[in-house]
Amino acid sequence: MANTRLTIVVPCYNEEEVLPKSSVVLSDILHEMMDKGQIATDSQILFVDDGSKDRTWKIIRELEEKDHCFSGLRFSRNFGHQNALVAGMTTAYKYSDAVITIDSDLQDDPHLIPEMVAKYQEGYDVVFAVRNDRSTDSAFKRNTAELFYKIMGKLGVDMVPDHADYRLLSHRALGELLKFSEHDPFLRGLVPQVGFPATKLYYKRAPRAAGESKYPLKKMVKFALDGITSNSVTPLKALAVVGAGVTAIGGIIGIVDLIKLCLGFNETLLNGVMVSLWILGGINLMGLGVVGTYVGKVFTESKNRPRYIIQEDDYTPQFNQNNKN
Ligand code: UDP
Ligand code: MG
Repeated sequence: MANTRLTIVVPCYNEEEVLPKSSVVLSDILHEMMDKGQIATDSQILFVDDGSKDRTWKIIRELEEKDHCFSGLRFSRNFGHQNALVAGMTTAYKYSDAVITIDSDLQDDPHLIPEMVAKYQEGYDVVFAVRNDRSTDSAFKRNTAELFYKIMGKLGVDMVPDHADYRLLSHRALGELLKFSEHDPFLRGLVPQVGFPATKLYYKRAPRAAGESKYPLKKMVKFALDGITSNSVTPLKALAVVGAGVTAIGGIIGIVDLIKLCLGFNETLLNGVMVSLWILGGINLMGLGVVGTYVGKVFTESKNRPRYIIQEDDYTPQFNQNNKN
């Protein structure tokens, strides 16, 4: 299937340190696949510059000059990793038989790409790349990730454990995924919902090739909360259960208090009032916060603002100029 036109989508945010290296690794793999006739010669590596403030866009431009397999998409500002992936996939969709998404820092082994394409050519629509060894991640990251997958499982969200956003999607699977038009998308929760024949390939997670993580704790927490609140209403239901439980406990305390008063152990009914006031106040506020988060989601969706704004697109014109589609 040498006519498989592949686009590799690579989100980049302030990645000037790692791009010179990862671009070479990725293009070597792409050219080798072209030379072997595994993919079409107009396959592309599409960098999505998510509003970088460093030289990232300049580097992408230089790469485009050097080799036509590179192209870039530039956001008007930072819209976040998931939106960068959506933008890259949306742009690539029309001109690609298969799309692979991979981070720019070489933490996800790019040498898996030929195997992923081979799986696609065997007939799979979705190929999940799964980390079977995260020893290079910090213990904190490993433990929090494990806890997150556990919670998601308990909340009934169908996810592939230890799979991030390194995956291949066929044209038709991607077409369906892009119909999920929600804001703050949580792709790893959405892809399993698309269905189609899927398979997994395993790799060892490497340390970052250069530069620092662009996912500080704050972004990680937002990402995890988005993942939960975009895919599960269990926290809302759990609130009702907590409310019922607290009411029952309050009732029991009240009855015990009353009995004690009748038997002469207490002088008033004020026992435990302070404690229950604080506890109930806390639970009330927490509940409001959870409901508020969901209401906020509805608010964001109803405004229907653009998920990203593209300032420059160097990918699409190539195909239009050559009338390749
Ligand atoms: N990234 C992005 N926008 C952001 C943050 C990150 O496009 O706002 C990109 C980043 O350049 C990288 C990928 O998303 O290619 C994953 O980020 P990173 O490697 O920093 O995350 P980690 O591997 O530490 O979870
Ligand atoms: Mg990384």
